[in-house]
Amino acid sequence: MGPDSYYDILGVPRNADDKEIRKAYRNLARKYHPDVCKEPGAEERFKKINEAYSVLSDPQTRAQYDNMGHEAYSSASRGSYSGGGYSGGFSADFSGFGDIFETFFGGGGRQRAGPRPGADLLMKMRITLEEAAFGAEKEVGVDHVEPCPECDGSGSETKKTTTCPTCGGSGQVRQMSQSIFGNFVRMSTCTACGGRGRVPESRCKACGGTGHRRARQTVKVKIPPGVDTGMRLRMEGYGDAGEYGAPSGDLYIEISVAPHRSFTRRGDDLETTVDISPAQAALGAEVEVQTIDGRTVVLDIPAGVQHNTGLKIRGEGVRWQTKPGDMLVRVHIVVPERLTEEERELYERLLEIEGRKPSAKGAKKGKGFFQDVVDKMKESVK
Ligand SMILES: [Zn+2]
Ligand SMILES: [Zn+2]
Repeated sequence: MGPDSYYDILGVPRNADDKEIRKAYRNLARKYHPDVCKEPGAEERFKKINEAYSVLSDPQTRAQYDNMGHEAYSSASRGSYSGGGYSGGFSADFSGFGDIFETFFGGGGRQRAGPRPGADLLMKMRITLEEAAFGAEKEVGVDHVEPCPECDGSGSETKKTTTCPTCGGSGQVRQMSQSIFGNFVRMSTCTACGGRGRVPESRCKACGGTGHRRARQTVKVKIPPGVDTGMRLRMEGYGDAGEYGAPSGDLYIEISVAPHRSFTRRGDDLETTVDISPAQAALGAEVEVQTIDGRTVVLDIPAGVQHNTGLKIRGEGVRWQTKPGDMLVRVHIVVPERLTEEERELYERLLEIEGRKPSAKGAKKGKGFFQDVVDKMKESVK
């Protein structure tokens, strides 16, 4: 006694027309739908009904089936189902039945089994340049979803869960929908258990059975030295809690480094400026500069240094664990706006040596540009 032919399964004669086949399928599908029919073996039967209809409802596959005979056809076609995809020869013919075949022939794989892990969270953190350079430890408040402390995240007062009676633990329910092609079966997430397949034995009153609650957690963030704007720190497990039994998501902290009043960062180097006088520039000088951590170091400025020259102090930049960056000191030659009597004499002497003449206006004693303007205005009023 071989397996029933598709005609037998649908209960139609071999010469049945499309209309007869569709009508038979509809009646049987409705009768044996697993959500409706609680007879043992109903699901298996429903599966076979769908398989039969999908072959016989299409003229091309029906012709193939008639030619090959049931045994040969079903064993040939089974290969293409069991692989999980539609790699087999006539697969394209079933395009309209995707849902059915994915469900009943294991072709889907869309729905991941097991409880879902929690969501990742992203927060931004602004830090000072000092903190970026040397690392820091900061505490931040993060709003997240955490397991309900009353039920330990199970959603159940007894901390026990039972198989969802609505979906039988699969997390999915079948929905029939009718179309001109016949009845379709669609799978959707079970609303009773949210797709988990399990429900609380006794609903936890604190969380309403969700097993979760929103709360603000304080997270200690260890900022490693050398971080820069745009970098993200990953705090494993500090994101939202997952479904019961699944891991929590991660917390990502995106760093943004605030501008510093005296240092500009260039990669691992820190740039700053130092003001020197024309005499210091001409003769060379030792000047004191502040490092980012507040120490004072002596910088040797060579004689004849030009305005805007960068001088390097090694190892005083951003400190990675391995090799620290450098401090770049840009020399600004600042010309004095006011001169003492003695200074003016010396500058005049310098000009003389250079063989140049001073400006008649500029040589006025101790007067700056604005004073000059004021004087001129007074003259014009007279
Ligand atoms: Zn369910
Ligand atoms: Zn709870």
